Amino acid sequence: MTLDGIHHITAITGDAPRNVDFYARVLGLRLVKKTVNQDDPTVYHLFYADEHGSPGADLTFFEYPGIERGRPGAGMVHRIVWRLASAEALGFWEERLRREGVSAAREGDGLRFDDPEGLGLELRVVETGDAPLIAGHPEIPAGLAVQGFDGVRAYSADPERSRSFLERTLGFGSAGPDRYDIRGERRGSFYAYDRTATWGRSGAGTVHHVAWASPMDDHPAWRERVVQGGGRPTPIIDRFYFRSIYFREPSGVLFEIATLGPGFATDEPLEHLGEALSLPPKFEHMRAQLERVLTPLPLTRGPVRATSKAQA
Ligand code: ZN
Repeated sequence: MTLDGIHHITAITGDAPRNVDFYARVLGLRLVKKTVNQDDPTVYHLFYADEHGSPGADLTFFEYPGIERGRPGAGMVHRIVWRLASAEALGFWEERLRREGVSAAREGDGLRFDDPEGLGLELRVVETGDAPLIAGHPEIPAGLAVQGFDGVRAYSADPERSRSFLERTLGFGSAGPDRYDIRGERRGSFYAYDRTATWGRSGAGTVHHVAWASPMDDHPAWRERVVQGGGRPTPIIDRFYFRSIYFREPSGVLFEIATLGPGFATDEPLEHLGEALSLPPKFEHMRAQLERVLTPLPLTRGPVRATSKAQA
């Protein structure tokens, strides 16, 4: 039984319109699902990914309108790293971010910057046999686009205390000091620690959890394995687009194991993902009310595309 690398990463935004502008327009990800927080349906849960809404490229945000900025610390993911194909792509992004007024720093084959709320991001040239997970965007040639997650970096006061759980329970492989690789049949990712003894504060621009991908049939067995490894997982929760368990790894980072299906095309067609508000069946009766209270968002797709085609 192996985990297929990162399934999705979930972070927090206090400013959904700006978040959509940054991730869909500037970074060129596809807004693949516009739904509500299942614990508070008056606010959004936004999902960005590649064209097909694939696990491995899926970054999601809980919206808490106006929430104060957080600060990453021990037990939190503090940087999300995406793959790029080439040095040419790195140059393209350096220029694109500069034009957008985003301050970015070259670090070897990587480009480091923050999102508008301070979330740490990196684009890195990576050689891999994994399929590129890219979204179409009128200003970003496919060969230069962001290709899905490479991994995440977390803070820990003592990364060693996570080693046994990561290696023996979850099957992560050691890949250098405080760094692990996790690879399944389709994809792999890295998970790395930076050391800090300082505690963080959850808020806008911080990561809430990272989810690892499990084939559908293995999911119940993963829960058993986490229990046997000393973890305290939640029951299996049906998130409609996938099934999930949540638990904290020994350094305090909130992990999820999510199934590779059924996926985002389960309640709307692939070509129209993310255009309309999707509601889990239990909230459908509240649609009119929710559409009145939810923050208006900029359009990302259909009409944007139609306009660019009309101009061409
Ligand atoms: Zn999740």
